[in-house]
Amino acid sequence: MGQLGIVGLPRNYEIFYEALTGSNPALSLEVISLGDHPTQEQLDGIGQKFFAQNHGQGIVEQAREILARELEGIAGLLRNERNHIERYGKVLDETSSGLNSRTAMSQELLQKIAGVMSVATASTIDHGKQFASTLGDKTAELETVKSKLEEYKKLADTDPLTHICNRRAFDKRIARIYNDNKGILFSALILADVDRFKDINDRHGHPVGDKILRIIADIFQTSVHSDMFVARTGGEEFALIVEGTTEEATYEIADRIRLLVAQTQFKDIEPGVNCGQVTVSMGVCMASDGESPEDLYAKADRALYRSKLVGRNRVTRYSMIAERPSKNWLLYKKD
Ligand code: GH3
Ligand code: MG
Ligand code: MG
Repeated sequence: MGQLGIVGLPRNYEIFYEALTGSNPALSLEVISLGDHPTQEQLDGIGQKFFAQNHGQGIVEQAREILARELEGIAGLLRNERNHIERYGKVLDETSSGLNSRTAMSQELLQKIAGVMSVATASTIDHGKQFASTLGDKTAELETVKSKLEEYKKLADTDPLTHICNRRAFDKRIARIYNDNKGILFSALILADVDRFKDINDRHGHPVGDKILRIIADIFQTSVHSDMFVARTGGEEFALIVEGTTEEATYEIADRIRLLVAQTQFKDIEPGVNCGQVTVSMGVCMASDGESPEDLYAKADRALYRSKLVGRNRVTRYSMIAERPSKNWLLYKKD
């Protein structure tokens, strides 16, 4: 790696390992096409493309190395600055003790002392300016590290296939609802699962399936308000969190999106590949019907399962299939 001028990051080793073993021919071809001296940026691009799930880890490793290097640099600068100030202090001490002594001083000697002080002061000012400017450069480099880490934070919450939020982001968001009693009363979960998706994969291939998932994610993302939350929670499963809503309003939102998907013609997904109609089944559950995020998810999933059982391409409310009337959550919850 060193001979190729490549930094020994774990992600870089991973890329070269895959390329050399030939287990991923597409990756091998891309690495070969980079030639003898690939840049870190090009390698990052490959990492992002072929190891999307773990790309964030690569960024963290890189940021850690850059930070350690920068801190070492700043510590060196500070040491250097301290030595310089100490030397300047020494000059001042020596000249002031000379001036305070009772021995008579010639005009010439006084001029010499003034000259020494002036040179030492000018050099200290110069040194200080240089220090400030180098520190400025270091600050800019640290800002880059900061934005890389912010990119990682975003990546960690993003589904690499559809670029919408992932299960991790969803888990955090749903937990927030149960931390706030008022939130529970007017929040709802919608779960959606693509119908007969396995058939689509079997008939047209996995890449076409992937494209369909992206189109459906776009439909979900663009058909909700900014205060709603959409995530891909699993293979062909999506979740929506709606806040400040009622069961009726949530049902209408879910049914509108269901219809939007059903009315989309999945044409020319790849040249000449038409998949016709693709549908989704949904389950809706109010947060007040769930005792915890997990319970809410399980109940919305039961409603979704009912949609599958009774024919797919429909929305079922949990309250309609619950064996017992739902409990009043606020009475139920023990503080
Ligand atoms: P149902 O209507 O009952 O939901 O039927 P289904 O075929 O959709 O359900 P099943 O759970 O049997 O199949 C889901 C399929 O989704 C199987 C799996 O290979 C596929 N899948 C999961 N994740 C992905 C993905 O990221 N891309 C693609 N193309 N397919 C995926
Ligand atoms: Mg499924
Ligand atoms: Mg399915």
